[in-house]
Amino acid sequence: MGVNLIYPVNLSQISRYSFQIEWSDGVSQEFRLSELQQACPCKVCLEIVKKEVDPLVLADKISTVGKYGIRVQFTSGCLHGIYSFSYLRTLGSSCK
Ligand SMILES: [Zn+2]
Repeated sequence: MGVNLIYPVNLSQISRYSFQIEWSDGVSQEFRLSELQQACPCKVCLEIVKKEVDPLVLADKISTVGKYGIRVQFTSGCLHGIYSFSYLRTLGSSCK
């Protein structure tokens, strides 16, 4: 395609409630798990968001999905939310 895709070169946990991604273009962003779940595109979370996301929600596991995105397994029961890298870029707050 000739397009340079932006991907995470490093993903690190900042605290129990947040983590940081360093992108291939040098940008670093911070993500709070509760804010991420609020923006989760899966069916379960769309239901939860109508009520309230626990601000102290944790992640059991954060894993990459191919070259496309990451999947976050929240302790609150969401296991299937996949965030594409481009979507994540719109969600994170800049650390610089
Ligand atoms: Zn979800």
